[in-house]
Amino acid sequence: MKPKFVKNTRGSSQKQFRHLFIPILLVGIILTAGWIYLDIDDIQGTNPVAGDNGEKVKDEENKDSEETKDVVSEGDEEEVVNGQKDKEKQETENGKEETDQEDADQSAEIPPSEEWDRDLIVSKLDHFISPIEDAVITYADSHLPGADRAYRNGVHEGIDYFNEYVGVPIEIDTPVKSVAEGEVIRADHDFKELEKSYRDELLEETAELGKTPEDTLDKLRGKQVWVEHEHNIVVRYAHLNSIEAHIEEGYQIEQGEVLGGVGNTGTGAAAEGRDDGPHLHMEIWLGEDQRFLGEEKSIDETREILVEIFE
Ligand SMILES: [Zn+2]
Repeated sequence: MKPKFVKNTRGSSQKQFRHLFIPILLVGIILTAGWIYLDIDDIQGTNPVAGDNGEKVKDEENKDSEETKDVVSEGDEEEVVNGQKDKEKQETENGKEETDQEDADQSAEIPPSEEWDRDLIVSKLDHFISPIEDAVITYADSHLPGADRAYRNGVHEGIDYFNEYVGVPIEIDTPVKSVAEGEVIRADHDFKELEKSYRDELLEETAELGKTPEDTLDKLRGKQVWVEHEHNIVVRYAHLNSIEAHIEEGYQIEQGEVLGGVGNTGTGAAAEGRDDGPHLHMEIWLGEDQRFLGEEKSIDETREILVEIFE
C-alpha cells in the first residue's frame, strides 16, 4: 500500500505541474509579445512626439505614420489604423506626467493670437529703418496710432515725428527717407494748401458725422508720398513740405533714399499761413485688407511693436 501511495503522490505532483505549465507558457508568450510591441513603438519615436506642437508635430506625425507602414505590412490601411490606435493607447498609458509635459510645451510654443499678430508684423517689418536719421519712436502716446483725434472726431492712424519728441531736431525740410525699398504709388507734387474756411467746413462736417470721412482725412494729411513694399505693405508719408523732383508714381525707391522734406501741410497752422508745428506723420498699412499698424491694438502694444522694428 505504502509504495503505491508514494507512487500515486508522485503521479499527482507531476499532473499538477503539467496543469500549471500551459498557463505559465501562455503568460510568457503574452509578455514577450507585449515587450516586442512596445519596443517597436519606441523605435517609431511615438513618445518624443507626444508633447510636441505646430509644424514640427505635423512633420513628426507624417514620419510616424510612414514608419508605422514600414513596420506593419506596406500600404495596409487596416494595419495602419490599428497602429495609430495602439499608439494612442500607449500615450494614455504613459499617464499624467506626459499630459502635463504636453500642456507646458503648448503654452511655450503657441502664443495667444494677438501676440502671433505682433510676431508676424515684426517679422515682416524688422528690416525697416527710421524715416528720419537717428530718430527714435516718440515718447508721447498721443503721437502714436490709435490715439484719439477729437478735433476731427477720429483716430490717429500714423506715427508722428515732432521736434523734441524723437531724439533729433525736426524742422521744415528735415530729410525724410524711405523706410525700405519699394515702388512709389503716389507723389502729391501738385498739392495746394487748404483754405482755412474750407478746412473749417470739413471739420464741422466730421462733428455732424461723428467720424472723419476718408476723403476728408486724405486732405488733412496734406502733401503725401506713398510707397508700396513687399507683402502688401504701404507706407504713407504725410504733411510733407517738399517732395524730391524724381519721386514719381512708378519710381523704384531704395531703402534710405530721401523722398522729401518734413512740413506741416494739411494742418491748421498751414491753413492759417504759418510754418509752425512741422512734423512727419507716417502711416504703415498692412496686408490684403489694408489695416493700419496699431489698428485694434492698445497704444502700449503698438509702441512695443514700433520700438522692436525701428530701434
Ligand atoms: Zn499724425
